[in-house]
Amino acid sequence: MASLSGLVDELRDAAWELDAAVAQSGLVGKFTSGYRSRSQQTRLYRAYLAGNTAFPVAAPGFSAHEYGEAFDYVVAPYKYQADVGQYWVSMGGEWGGAGDMVHFELPGASARAKQRGEAAQGESFGATVAGGITTAIDFYGGSSIAALLSMFPSLSKNQALELLSQPYESFQKWLISSISLPGFKK
Ligand SMILES: [Zn+2]
Repeated sequence: MASLSGLVDELRDAAWELDAAVAQSGLVGKFTSGYRSRSQQTRLYRAYLAGNTAFPVAAPGFSAHEYGEAFDYVVAPYKYQADVGQYWVSMGGEWGGAGDMVHFELPGASARAKQRGEAAQGESFGATVAGGITTAIDFYGGSSIAALLSMFPSLSKNQALELLSQPYESFQKWLISSISLPGFKK
């Protein structure tokens, strides 16, 4: 049985309430997943990509489970799973529905997780760009046309030559204005 620690209080309380109602109706309920760390989500996501999970798994950083806002719960007999999902909705929660029958969450949790995931991805893209600039400045120092061309495939050889012959400040300005080039966005 998965632990409910790590879930936000509001969700944990509601989860126990759901479980009590399920037990009272004579069904057997089991929590199969609660809070997941980043590494747990990564492992699960890999299994999902390999086709080894019964239910969909969000990419690391994008799951409501990682924010303590979702749990997975299975009832036996399984034919009542949808009824339990509907009951959760009547309690004010959000349920995974036909696509993810075992998934229960706070209202809007998956949408919030997606936003958080995208925000984090934006930050890491920023870090990638910063890393790219550092690398490109090293190229400038080494005056490597070939390297510059490989980073910015849309540059012509003459343009690369011209850029490398410019003062460092101009080169840096050009670099920063060029980070939206498709060839750089890798
Ligand atoms: Zn889930």
